[in-house]
Amino acid sequence: MKNFIFICCSFILIQHSFSQKGEISISSRFFHPTSKNDTLSTLNIIDKLSVTQIDWMYCSDSSKIKLLKDRNIKFSLAINPQVPDSGEYTIRGRIIGLNDVKYVAPWMKVWNQKNPNWGCVNSPFFNDLFIKKTKQLVDLGPYAILVDDSRFNEQSLESGGCFCEFCVNKFTRYLIDLGHNEINDIFNYKEYLNSQGIKVFKYKDNTILYRKEFCDFQRKSVIEFLNNWKETIKSYSGNIQLITNNYRGKWDSIYSIFDGGICEIVTDSLTDRYFQRIVKINNELKKSQSFTLVSNDIDLNLQFLLLCKKYSITAIAPWDVFIGTGKDNKPMRYYLDVDILATLYKNYSLFKGYKIIRNKDYSLLTLQFKKISNKKYIIRNKED
Ligand SMILES: [Zn+2]
Repeated sequence: MKNFIFICCSFILIQHSFSQKGEISISSRFFHPTSKNDTLSTLNIIDKLSVTQIDWMYCSDSSKIKLLKDRNIKFSLAINPQVPDSGEYTIRGRIIGLNDVKYVAPWMKVWNQKNPNWGCVNSPFFNDLFIKKTKQLVDLGPYAILVDDSRFNEQSLESGGCFCEFCVNKFTRYLIDLGHNEINDIFNYKEYLNSQGIKVFKYKDNTILYRKEFCDFQRKSVIEFLNNWKETIKSYSGNIQLITNNYRGKWDSIYSIFDGGICEIVTDSLTDRYFQRIVKINNELKKSQSFTLVSNDIDLNLQFLLLCKKYSITAIAPWDVFIGTGKDNKPMRYYLDVDILATLYKNYSLFKGYKIIRNKDYSLLTLQFKKISNKKYIIRNKED
């Protein structure tokens, strides 16, 4: 991953400064420093950027949360389908495929996590666990709880779905309730598929009996689980907002259960047309929506922040943003230079005329502000 060292060359802030209407939010996914070797500091970036909000943070340490409260920072806390049930491990109530293997999200398979396995929404044990852990986070005083990867069993269908005892038994009842008189209550879908020599359920294979019914059942199970969770958490704390990461800003039958979303947009969405559409949709649906960009390109990140400013959308600052899996099989995170971000947040108009000039070998970038003056930022672009 690239690290930008920032040098400011005789640069003076001029022209009219105007403040951002929306919140300045960062997504410090974990509270830095996370260890004595971690050179990053969540509090440092809060101070430098005058951050008012932190989103999508995994933290249950009340002493760290107190540091945010002391600074009047709004924060949302994250929970995901991998919430551990046995120490740091994921043992009980998990999604289990037709081949008896517990589900791991495809993009996480190489991460070597202690808690790789997703919970099954039809497991009463996991249902209780998810509510209990959410309440513990609510007790820490966030303005919102963010469910990271809220598609649960529906997402797992792409890798085979869940055939735990709860899913199998509930699916039999689901088929009978649909009027499938050809089966009775001893029907077992897992045993049936095994008897057909099917090792992995393929959600697009039209030749598999009850394929569509099973997909609908898994999706409806997630909706039922989340609605029950939402009702329980809202009655526990009436003011809490419930949000999720809604990919590309979609509001399907699962994402729509939430009050708002953090949209992970991809680089081809950095257009006025896309932003106008999202603003229109969210106004109609009355959903809150903030954006985060999945890219480590400085130019695209600056374009992203300027577009968010233009459309008054809260942008998650590109600092501690997940951008994929590295060669060492660890998740890669991107940190745009803090001084550039701080300058941008103080004066967006300055950046409207910026231009990036790159050395051929990418060793040096020059950030030039054409409309203002000949003053430049020079950024040395070094490999770690
Ligand atoms: Zn299940």
